Amino acid sequence: MIPVTKPFLPPKEVYNAYLDGIWKRQWLTNMGPLASELEIRIKEREELNHLLFVTSGTIALQIAIKALALKGEIITTPFSFIATTSSIVWEGCKPVFVDIDASSLNIDANKIEAAITKDTSAILATHVYGNPCDVEKIAEIAKKHNLKVIYDGAHAFGVKLKGKSIFDYGDVSICSLHATKLYHSIEGGLIVAQDATTLKKMEYMRNFGFAGPERFAELGINGKNSEFHAAMGLANLDYLDGILQQRKELTERYWHRLVQSKLAAPIWHKAATNNYGYMPVIFENEEVLLKCMEQLKLREIFTRRYFYPSLAAILPYLESVRMPVTEALAKRVLCLPLYYDLAVEEVDLICRTMLNAKNN
Ligand SMILES: *Cc1c(COP(=O)(O)O)cnc(C)c1O
Repeated sequence: MIPVTKPFLPPKEVYNAYLDGIWKRQWLTNMGPLASELEIRIKEREELNHLLFVTSGTIALQIAIKALALKGEIITTPFSFIATTSSIVWEGCKPVFVDIDASSLNIDANKIEAAITKDTSAILATHVYGNPCDVEKIAEIAKKHNLKVIYDGAHAFGVKLKGKSIFDYGDVSICSLHATKLYHSIEGGLIVAQDATTLKKMEYMRNFGFAGPERFAELGINGKNSEFHAAMGLANLDYLDGILQQRKELTERYWHRLVQSKLAAPIWHKAATNNYGYMPVIFENEEVLLKCMEQLKLREIFTRRYFYPSLAAILPYLESVRMPVTEALAKRVLCLPLYYDLAVEEVDLICRTMLNAKNN
């Protein structure tokens, strides 16, 4: 069986060494030493100034929306994971969908201005598969209309744009450290803010708003992550360069094998590095996609239609809106297996199966 993804696990002894420390200190959660160390190590690695380790990417989004005091309408993309949209609704705001760009699969920055109304407070865009949005155009629009910008960088750990971390764009960026993401702490998330005051506010929010044992600075929630999760994050961090390298090689192998297939990849931002978080392929039509998916499944190879269908069309708590580009592309995109211990021979088998399915 070949799953679409498989979490990376460090050698057990490495994790156990962290556990020994936890047992010695008996400090399990509430901003313990490992959680702090993880924040420092990630800040150093990604050259970031202001960062928080929280329980999930979803809570990171919710805290970001709350901390920026967003109201009314938030412009967002229908081609993302459900949490991008549901966080907006959860925080009492209204998602206003803007269609995607057919080549990057990110929100089409050229269509944002037409969706702005007097009630718009922010833009929440996803760097889909880690591929950076048109951050310059979005910044320009945000400035002109006095809007906040949040980036859902759940897929984007390690990506650099013009030499700096992708999380260093927008007012706030978030990342998910969920087990299915390329770098993980089992469950976990990161919040990155441009400005120290906003980060301080979010730091209070992460811990019920506590500003001292008997004092509250903000309305808060429980977004603190545990020492056990931080330990996994720290253990995995030492393997990250190897993970990125392995994913790069597997991706190159895929495209080498699929070169004659008429399959396309999303067009990557020219000034950005790739983290090879996903292996999305764009088919010429849905029929061929379904045929390939089926043939792979017969060999117990599992793929995933990330993201299908359009979030603008299927949520029971939102009025359905048509997004023609998203609908057309969502039907044609399939994510192929990609994870650290996927074997080159397995990549070859997947490619052979797909090429056969396409030609029959
Ligand atoms: C995974 C993911 C999230 C949610 O992250 P969790 O850590 O699972 O809460 C949000 N947005 C996108 C685009 C994701 O892929």
